[in-house]
Amino acid sequence: MIKSEVKTTCSYCGVGCGIIVKKDNNNKVFVEGDKDHPVNKGMLCSKGMNLHYVANDTSDRILYPEMRWSRSHPRERVSWDDALDRAASVFKSIIKKHGPDSVAFYVSGQSLTEEYYIANKLTKGFIGTNNIDTNSRLCMSSAVVGYKKTFGEDSVPISYADIELADTFLITGANPAWCHPILFRRLEKHKEDNPNVKIIVIDPRKTDTANFADLHLQLLPGTDVVLYNAIGRCLYKSGLIDEDFIANNTDGFKAYKDLILGTSLRKASKICGVSEDDIKKAAKYIGLSKGFISMWAMGLNQSVVGTDKNVSLLNLSLITGQVGKPGAGPFSLTGQPNAMGGREVGGMANLLAVHKDLMNEEHRREVAQFWGVDKINPKPGLTATEMFDALESGKLKAVWIACTNPLVSLPNLNKIEKAMKSSKFVVVQDISHKSDTVGFADLVLPAAGWLEKEGTMTNSERRISYLPKEIEAPGEARPDVEIFCDFAQRMGFRGFNFNNASEIYDEYASMTKGTNIDVSFLNYDRLKTEGTFQWPVPEHRHQGTPRLFADKKFYTPSQRAQFNIPSTIENTSVLPSDDFPLILTTGRVRDQWHTMTKTGKVSRLKTHYPTPVLEINPVDAYLYKIKDGDITEIKGENGEVRVRAKVTDTIKKGVVFLPMHWGKQLQSNLNRANNLTNTHVDPTSKEPDFKFTRVAVSKY
Ligand code: SF4
Repeated sequence: MIKSEVKTTCSYCGVGCGIIVKKDNNNKVFVEGDKDHPVNKGMLCSKGMNLHYVANDTSDRILYPEMRWSRSHPRERVSWDDALDRAASVFKSIIKKHGPDSVAFYVSGQSLTEEYYIANKLTKGFIGTNNIDTNSRLCMSSAVVGYKKTFGEDSVPISYADIELADTFLITGANPAWCHPILFRRLEKHKEDNPNVKIIVIDPRKTDTANFADLHLQLLPGTDVVLYNAIGRCLYKSGLIDEDFIANNTDGFKAYKDLILGTSLRKASKICGVSEDDIKKAAKYIGLSKGFISMWAMGLNQSVVGTDKNVSLLNLSLITGQVGKPGAGPFSLTGQPNAMGGREVGGMANLLAVHKDLMNEEHRREVAQFWGVDKINPKPGLTATEMFDALESGKLKAVWIACTNPLVSLPNLNKIEKAMKSSKFVVVQDISHKSDTVGFADLVLPAAGWLEKEGTMTNSERRISYLPKEIEAPGEARPDVEIFCDFAQRMGFRGFNFNNASEIYDEYASMTKGTNIDVSFLNYDRLKTEGTFQWPVPEHRHQGTPRLFADKKFYTPSQRAQFNIPSTIENTSVLPSDDFPLILTTGRVRDQWHTMTKTGKVSRLKTHYPTPVLEINPVDAYLYKIKDGDITEIKGENGEVRVRAKVTDTIKKGVVFLPMHWGKQLQSNLNRANNLTNTHVDPTSKEPDFKFTRVAVSKY
């Protein structure tokens, strides 16, 4: 017997599907797709439709705070008062002795906007350090830099509704068929209804997305910039460019033209491993299109040249004038449900709230004034990987990790383990004992999960959704905002005395007034009664903004979009050698999410890809004497992995693939792809190079 029903949003990927949650008399929940939701129109993918199992199963949940007084003692149950008093006392004493930059917070793209906002206010406003970063550093930071450089601000210009208005799609470094499935279903339906729609996929793997494409360019990893420039060259040479748009709305075309003409098509084809004809064909599809959308994800962002890949792709939208009009624009696909919301509240070590610039003195002064503090520290904080380097070296003494599992997700995990052991004090605030990171905590704080707290999230298309509380959290678990605010007050800070999440949202929303992400006319009442909104929502009764830059006024000082010249066309990753001849690339599988603390609990989600396997091309398998199903040893400069081989021609020769989800679930550390990944990062975005690590493979 169903006793209540609420609308909410899926807690997994950045597509942001609407879900109806029904609760029965025993407080068990059931989920179904929300037919009225503009994103998914009732559809859910395998992960979303099994979310009720995750919510109903509390067997793995952290139920009460646990603390240890020293590393030689086991953790034991303590009260919330004891836990937070100890946290405040340790943080105060470390800050007093070593300064505010000796502590850090590492949060998550799965945190709600209110949680992100409060954690940033606490760290940047009151503790006085910018040492707060997020796992979004691992997925979106290159896209953020790309948008800022091109449009003047981190602004995704278009909506999912533009999919049905476009006729050409370039999907690059992404596999939405598996990782953004409902978005991909919309694309499939659009093509089914309009067979003339063209889909180009650029990927070293023949993914399900690539199998659906009209044209698959199976490039060599790391050569994306050369390929986009070669497509730009063909567009220019064929006259398939929008000269009016370029002349009236952009800067920097001359330098871009010189760049793309500087490399011959033949040379580019050789570098990328893609035929000249296919490059020309891609350019023709794009150049003749009335509505061109590019979509990308981690294949571009997770690279030492992630920023260069992003700006080079965005240049293709500028040269064709395909931005600010229906069915056109560059569309970065966020991996996490609230990576966008985190960016709005300044959830990275180099950002300030409401898209203000940490390096701008006036912006720092405005934020300080709003929060009622003397000043904001001008020094950029430690980014995700820098934070763990600093823990290892002893420069950073304490870290507070909330809603993320770096012991599976960060690169070079053997180093991350050392860093955790070197730290003086580790707080882990999470929902599940299945998180590998919990094992390293001095203090564990039980957090409330999806449906157990209220708040908001923003999906990939700037759509803000309200997520209600529908069930009680198990044990003594508390909403993250409550935990952060309680801690802040025990630190002696004013400004954290909120009665509920709605008041926190209102404070954030009022801070956006007059900015490009103005949501000052949005509040919980409107979100609850009118549904979701795409920012900005700058006026009373405003219905949100599906498309940015329709007036062709960009957020740069000149109001013109900027062609950017990549700092290099080379791939600056460490290239294969005789000892490590293959390129390892990592990624997601269809039915698992991140480090499997949630999806790993659902039996039916394990059938599709039950254990991690190494995907290897038949030619390489022959060369290294590996047969399908053999246990292989993959060795890199940072560690090793042992998993079975899957010999398949879906992967390009010279490249191998490992899924990134597995930690210790299989009672071994040797399943972790990130034992191998290197620590190189993009020099601007500081995003790690997950897609390019040199390795050697042999039969075990
Ligand atoms: Fe959830 Fe993403 Fe699947 Fe939609 S596509 S149901 S948001 S995981």
